[in-house]
Amino acid sequence: MLRRQATHRVQYSSSATNLTDRIANIVMCYNIVDGRFHQRCRHFKAMSTRRQDCMRHVCLFSCRHPFDCMSRRTCRCKRRMDLPILNPIRLSPTRCPDCRTVWG
Ligand SMILES: [Zn+2]
Ligand SMILES: [Zn+2]
Ligand SMILES: [Zn+2]
Repeated sequence: MLRRQATHRVQYSSSATNLTDRIANIVMCYNIVDGRFHQRCRHFKAMSTRRQDCMRHVCLFSCRHPFDCMSRRTCRCKRRMDLPILNPIRLSPTRCPDCRTVWG
């Protein structure tokens, strides 16, 4: 049984450098998945997901995308998001709950 962590607790990330690098090269919207990284088994357990907006008018997922664009049926805007970024906000030296079930 997986224990679900509470969402909506987005906090300062210690890996901000990586994120900034990534954002500088980004062309699409993408999700940032905050979670816990289990060093022993190298598994990542998601805790919450937030979306990074690319702030482009020609992106369907952006808040800058014109509201009436889709209704005109002329929308040729981007409909794909980039791959999500795994952002380990917690580090655990232990195995994840899944692996603990298997390996003890
Ligand atoms: Zn976008
Ligand atoms: Zn559009
Ligand atoms: Zn694991």
